[in-house]
Amino acid sequence: MIHQEAPADGDAPRSSAAATDLVLALQGAMGDDCVSIDPTDLARYETGWRYGHGKARLVVKPRTTEHVAAAVRICRDAGVRIQPVGANTGLVAASTPDESGEMVVLSLERLSRIVSVDHGNGSATVEGGVLLSQLNGALADDGRVFPIDLGADPQIGGMIATNTGGSRLVRYGDVRANLLGVEVVLPTGEIWSDLKGLRKNNTGLDAKQLFVGTSGAFGIVTGAVLKTWPLPKQRTGALACATSGEAVLSLLARLEPALGEFLTAFEAISATAVSAVLKHGAIDRSPYDGAPPAYSVLIELSSAVPSETLDLEELLGAALMEHMEAAEGDVDDVVVGDVKDFWHVRHQVSECLREEGTVLGLDVSVPRSSMAAFTSDVRTRLAESHPFVSVADFGHWGDGGSHLNLVWDPAAAPEGTKRALQREIYGLCVKTYGGSYSAEHGVGPHNIDAYHEYTSAYVREVCAKVAPERFGTVDL
Ligand SMILES: Cc1cc2nc3c(=O)[nH]c(=O)nc-3n(C[C@H](O)[C@H](O)[C@H](O)COP(=O)(O)OP(=O)(O)OC[C@H]3O[C@@H](n4cnc5c(N)ncnc54)[C@H](O)[C@@H]3O)c2cc1C
Repeated sequence: MIHQEAPADGDAPRSSAAATDLVLALQGAMGDDCVSIDPTDLARYETGWRYGHGKARLVVKPRTTEHVAAAVRICRDAGVRIQPVGANTGLVAASTPDESGEMVVLSLERLSRIVSVDHGNGSATVEGGVLLSQLNGALADDGRVFPIDLGADPQIGGMIATNTGGSRLVRYGDVRANLLGVEVVLPTGEIWSDLKGLRKNNTGLDAKQLFVGTSGAFGIVTGAVLKTWPLPKQRTGALACATSGEAVLSLLARLEPALGEFLTAFEAISATAVSAVLKHGAIDRSPYDGAPPAYSVLIELSSAVPSETLDLEELLGAALMEHMEAAEGDVDDVVVGDVKDFWHVRHQVSECLREEGTVLGLDVSVPRSSMAAFTSDVRTRLAESHPFVSVADFGHWGDGGSHLNLVWDPAAAPEGTKRALQREIYGLCVKTYGGSYSAEHGVGPHNIDAYHEYTSAYVREVCAKVAPERFGTVDL
């Protein structure tokens, strides 16, 4: 039975008879408490973390894969579109319903069981709504980890749908590289289960890849088998003060062979980005003696081998010393300390930039050898075309990813600035540097114009053939 308070008049179609029939059908299939039309509850799903705002018709919170399948079939028969949502930490406006008030939000939050952990296989089988922190909490006791690491706590299904990269991609790869099997509910309402824990399987098309990085459009992920790794027993790092973008790349070229598989993160933070943290952030004191350098490079090493057997600090110190001697002037200082403090600075950048003005966050990638040339090109061009914009870039230089933030005083910018800048930078990145307009976060409404502009006819044809029906607001 519908037990929630009816929404106010004018909120149609939430209050229409058709909506009521839909609620009854969904409640009949899943139970009353799995369906909500309570406006306070709906509001949680109507605004995205950074971009995206819409209006939900209702939200369903299934408890099982069969519930998800039933909800999909009921909505399909009623001609109602579904917006899947995980932890709503996505950054491209793809986690919220559109403005129509017609869409049903399907939240995976109750599919939150860790089904099994296979230590011998180094894998874990989980439901789609399991949180990253929950999984790692469960693995830690046995000295294992799912190593995709980021400043948010997403669900595993959302991570698959966005192919989350994170800060340690340089060592462990992205979600795609760590996914062994999936279970999904297709837009037809069928369940496709391929929950195999195989590291090797060459038996034709690897169909699970259809659901990785495609923003949930082709299927709702209800389960996954993930690769787990030995939990590091030691972690160390440094903040190297690089004098230019080119100097960051020359440091990477030296450290990668010198540190091998122990290098787990290589992040560069521009002076503009660091300055925002020094001004607005929660830090006790500046890590630098004077002004921040052109780029602060956060280098992290870790290993499952304990420090009594392997001295990572010594290894890093020797490699940095060698580089400073060989490439004089590239790195003029190295800050040593607790690597957690360096991450603390890094994770505050986005939030602190918002204190500086309007922020356009572009998550782009180029071949990593072009990172310095690309970011310098962006600066030069914008100084001419948009002199009121400052470039506050930071990101995963070890894998060619940049969170290219453009910041300006809203009073100084003409209308349409965001759109014009996004188009200009995406064009430069894709056409001139052979890059990607979305390195990590997926397509989403935020990037849909670029998707239409840069996606080949072949890829579109394949999408149309494999999935003529779609979930969500993203028309892949
Ligand atoms: C502070 C912060 C830092 C971040 N850092 C990084 C980073 O370093 N690297 C990176 O890659 N991302 C990063 N992100 C982005 C974000 O965390 C990832 O995109 C995330 O993995 C999305 O997961 P989610 O559960 O929050 O999904 P949501 O935001 O809920 O959804 C994202 C998309 O996935 C779809 N979806 C969600 N669950 C499912 C499911 N079960 N089945 C099918 N489709 C589904 C949604 O429809 C939507 O299209 C960051 C975000 C924040 C807020």
